[in-house]
Amino acid sequence: MKEGLANKSIYRKDYKVYPWDVGQLDLHFDIARESTTVRTEMEFQLKDGEQAKQDIVLNGSELQLESLSLNGSELSGDDYVIDGETLTIPDAPAKSVLKTEVRIQPASNSALEGLYLSGAFLLTQCEAQGFRKITWFPDRPDVMTTYRVTMEADRAEFPILLSNGNQEASGELPGGRHWVRWEDPFPKPTYLFALVAGDLALVEDHFTTRSGRDVVLRIYVESENLDRCEHAMQSLINAMRWDEERFNLEYDLDIYHIVATNDFNMGAMENKSLNIFNSKYVLARPDTATDADFQGIEGVIGHEYFHNWTGNRVTCRDWFELTLKEGLTVFRDEEFSADMQSRAVKRIRVVRDLRSRQFPEDDGPMSHPIRPDRYVEINNFYTSTVYQKGATIIRMYHTLLGESGFQKGMKLYFDRHDGQAVTCDDFLAAMADANGVDLERFGRWYSQSGTPQVHVSDYYDSASRKYKLTLKQHTPATHDQKTKQALVIPFTCGLLTNNGEELPLQLEDETEAGPGTRLLVLEEMQQEYTFVNVPEAPVPSLFRDFSAPVKVFYDYSHAQLAILIAFDSDAYVRWDAAQRMAQDVILEQCHRHSKGQEMRLDPSLLKAFRGTLSDRAADPALLAEAMIMPDEDYLAEQMEVVDVDGIHVARKFIKSGLANELEELFAERYADLNDGLPYQKSPEAMARRALKNVCMSYLQDTQAGESLITAQLESSDNMTDSLAAIKGLVLMDSPMAGKALSQFETRWSEDALVMDKWFAMQAMKPGCDSLGRVRELMKHPAFSIQNPNKVRSLIGVFAMLNPTGFHAADGSGYAFHADRVIELDGLNPQIAARMASAFNRWKRYDESRKKLIKAQLQRIAAADNLSGDVSEIINNALRSDGE
Ligand code: ZN
Repeated sequence: MKEGLANKSIYRKDYKVYPWDVGQLDLHFDIARESTTVRTEMEFQLKDGEQAKQDIVLNGSELQLESLSLNGSELSGDDYVIDGETLTIPDAPAKSVLKTEVRIQPASNSALEGLYLSGAFLLTQCEAQGFRKITWFPDRPDVMTTYRVTMEADRAEFPILLSNGNQEASGELPGGRHWVRWEDPFPKPTYLFALVAGDLALVEDHFTTRSGRDVVLRIYVESENLDRCEHAMQSLINAMRWDEERFNLEYDLDIYHIVATNDFNMGAMENKSLNIFNSKYVLARPDTATDADFQGIEGVIGHEYFHNWTGNRVTCRDWFELTLKEGLTVFRDEEFSADMQSRAVKRIRVVRDLRSRQFPEDDGPMSHPIRPDRYVEINNFYTSTVYQKGATIIRMYHTLLGESGFQKGMKLYFDRHDGQAVTCDDFLAAMADANGVDLERFGRWYSQSGTPQVHVSDYYDSASRKYKLTLKQHTPATHDQKTKQALVIPFTCGLLTNNGEELPLQLEDETEAGPGTRLLVLEEMQQEYTFVNVPEAPVPSLFRDFSAPVKVFYDYSHAQLAILIAFDSDAYVRWDAAQRMAQDVILEQCHRHSKGQEMRLDPSLLKAFRGTLSDRAADPALLAEAMIMPDEDYLAEQMEVVDVDGIHVARKFIKSGLANELEELFAERYADLNDGLPYQKSPEAMARRALKNVCMSYLQDTQAGESLITAQLESSDNMTDSLAAIKGLVLMDSPMAGKALSQFETRWSEDALVMDKWFAMQAMKPGCDSLGRVRELMKHPAFSIQNPNKVRSLIGVFAMLNPTGFHAADGSGYAFHADRVIELDGLNPQIAARMASAFNRWKRYDESRKKLIKAQLQRIAAADNLSGDVSEIINNALRSDGE
């Protein structure tokens, strides 16, 4: 393993206030693809009226320094010190004016951080520390400055020149050039700076805020995509209205811009008034985007918009505090989606995502608290833990304080901190003070990593009609923390009779019975709750609405699960009961399979499915969620040692067993939902398509499957139905699959986002020939290793969603993937690091696979010039070996 500069850890405890205020930053860009010149002028003033001289420390990376002057005099190489990414000017006067000029090379920037080229335009990405690739400046979120940005460029090549805030002036220059000046009145940290220059088309709309301000909304895209912006625009308008109504927050400028790019490392970026989006989260037309894509767009548009208050107006003191803005903003976007669509369905999808991505992360070599204490490369900490677990912790404040208490806390947070860079402690203090409650123990959620387990046991005494629930919490040690403390765990539950009726709840010390849902708050390692006047041994409906990021253990019988599935009032509990039953049954067959015993279909699962399929009252989208089998990775997480092939075989056996036993019911429900009506975008229509396509995914395992799928493919007028059908053909290995894939390819070959789907469904197809196919697809003209969406669709899907392919027993998948990580690291370290994390769960496999993966990890670790991004991931994975 290499140790070096790239592997130096940064610690939260080492935070130091930046001694200078930077009042205003004047930026001047002379824009060209190959080489752009950046000139700055900025005023440094020592904080608190300090008079003594101090060092000025700036950050920069890969900059070609042309000139640097302090208070009017040019500095030479002896007047400052450059060390790695910092430049220090010793002993600068208390008031100092600094001027710089640098050159940068956007066209050859393949890391997609700083200023880079995408198609025919240039754009920036600065979060977290990309501004230092644009110019020398204190590149840290607690330095907030107002920006004045002037851009000049060739008018024909760069007709559109955008930056944050309002356009103040523009003009012509000789030689076909022009210039534009933007000013942002709100002080902001560097990570929220943005610039876009190029030839883009736009869609425009308006929003009138509730105080009557007219806001111009513009979405900029490449001209061929103009007809795909409608949904994004509608989502933006909905988000602006929703934030006024639910959070009392109004937009604060007269202009809001969104720019879509095909080349983006992440989903989207909340730069002040100039959001930049991965085109995946903007562009949609019913024939090119699935229902999931439409919902994703609504969520991400909302997310970036909501950052304007939670992130931009109040930002983070340093990057350890990332969850301050991300956890809170994810919570807000989840609530927005829940209010726009179905709350119950949204909740289930959020939980599925948390359990299948965040729980494993928190149990692996990268386990960290939502507010980490150290990092090597901050880009590796834009994680499911910081985002999704962070949002769950915000949701717990909401559960404990109620909507009105939570909103009181939000108001105090903004009253105290608008315009500041603050910490998670400040957020907690605002919530506590506004509600007059003590949240000190609750605060442990910010510093403790790992997924707590809650073990539930119960006892019913028929003589006294008392029912006792005992909750015990335990958080297993993680690689970063050996000892764990008790956490505050909101735990919502109810009790059902064996007929499925919900009982009113009365605890021992209460005088009368209350409603059927009760919030218990577990604060100690163990607590007991005794319910009285319980007429029979009840079925506990535990952990309603998934009220905390924990794993709940209770020894449910299949009979109890069946009652919950059929009758519980909480959608999450119903769904979870169905998942538990399916998981039990599949894992049992996996076990039998490994012992050479015959697998069998469980009658209670069959009965539960029959009930679900015959339910005509429930939301079809909820029924769809209940019938989606737990995925192979989730099942793998439940095993001591992962049996890759056993899980695949057992899951397939159960699914096709259900399909064949219940063929008539599936077909009937399918026919009913396959109504032949033209496409509609409403939540109801989406719900019907969801259930229809789940039915189809079962029917694909029956005799009638192929003709039914082919018919759907031929008659479909939307991508949701077409894609489900083609995927069906591919997964069932139908002879029709090849033709369907090539027709799809011909029709969409020019369309980057649709081709991502084409790559993904082939990368996902299980079996031993999948690697060969992935290798072939890498040569396809639509594939590019430089484009993150393509890498995620082909390489990422293969490594993360195709367990039988990636974990092929001969290690070929691992060797291939390690080659890709090394190749990508030379181009785009952030994407390389994401891909490298596919190896993180390696310890959970059998000895032979572990050995094969370890060899690949060591090979990557030994590669030349490995980035800090990849080496942090790989070294953590290897280090956890020694412990
Ligand atoms: Zn965010």
